[in-house]
Amino acid sequence: MTTATVRSTASGEIDLTRPSCARLYDYYLGGSHNFAIDREYGRRAVAQWPRLPAMVRANRDFLRRAVRFAVRNGIRQFLDIGSGIPTAGNVHEIARRADPGARVVYVDIDPVAVAHSRAMLAGCSGVTVLQADLRDAQAILRASEVQRVIDFSRPVALLMLGVLHQVSDVDDPSGLVEEYHDALSPDSLAVISHGANDIEPDHADEHQRLYAGFGTPLWFREHSQVLDLFAGFELLEPGVVPLPEWRPDSAEVDQSERCRMSVYGGIGRKN
Ligand code: SAM
Repeated sequence: MTTATVRSTASGEIDLTRPSCARLYDYYLGGSHNFAIDREYGRRAVAQWPRLPAMVRANRDFLRRAVRFAVRNGIRQFLDIGSGIPTAGNVHEIARRADPGARVVYVDIDPVAVAHSRAMLAGCSGVTVLQADLRDAQAILRASEVQRVIDFSRPVALLMLGVLHQVSDVDDPSGLVEEYHDALSPDSLAVISHGANDIEPDHADEHQRLYAGFGTPLWFREHSQVLDLFAGFELLEPGVVPLPEWRPDSAEVDQSERCRMSVYGGIGRKN
């Protein structure tokens, strides 16, 4: 262990010489589970793209709407992949407001996200966390944590928010979603949000360069590529749209902000 790393309470070591996506996201949300290096890069990212915190909040709002939508559609099981550092309005909290028996598995690759999730979930039955790489879909689907909590013979909401743009074309994000799709029963839902490179392309390029510079590349994609992620699912109305346009709770969303939110979201159903 060098002076630039600390031992995580989850597993492995945390590199303090470069920011992590999970901790940066926590910084944009105003959370406290981030380090000086994250805040330094976070400030640079927001200076470059001042709308970033609003986009991240829009992503959390979409997550809340999606979980409530799933619950209204009878779903009581959630597989949240790339779940991030816990923050206000976690999936099990939203789902369990409707049904205290709702079951959730959180999956993340980041040791800080996993450690904080474990701490939050201590003593909470029917909800668990798994540290894993979503690119090994079969390992996740077969993991004992997942098998114990999720009954794949019943509908599941597969949540992949803000994570597939961390998967390169070489790792084939559509093929990965298909692997998860194949494990789901009919009436399951896929909820996906994904950074866009065709809404504010200059900002998106600059943001990707910043992240690539510290070794965590992002692959923002255009609308048609995000649509492709839903192959095999029936895409529900209103389709793949900038996040605030996905069935907003309030009709009062600022129209000018809506169209400049560089994150697409959608929900598909397995028939
Ligand atoms: N899903 C949450 C949300 O929408 O609020 C958090 C999104 S955050 C932008 C993306 C998360 O994906 C981070 O916590 C990161 O650690 C995780 N992640 C990135 N690549 C991953 C991978 N290959 N497998 C699992 N998790 C991954």
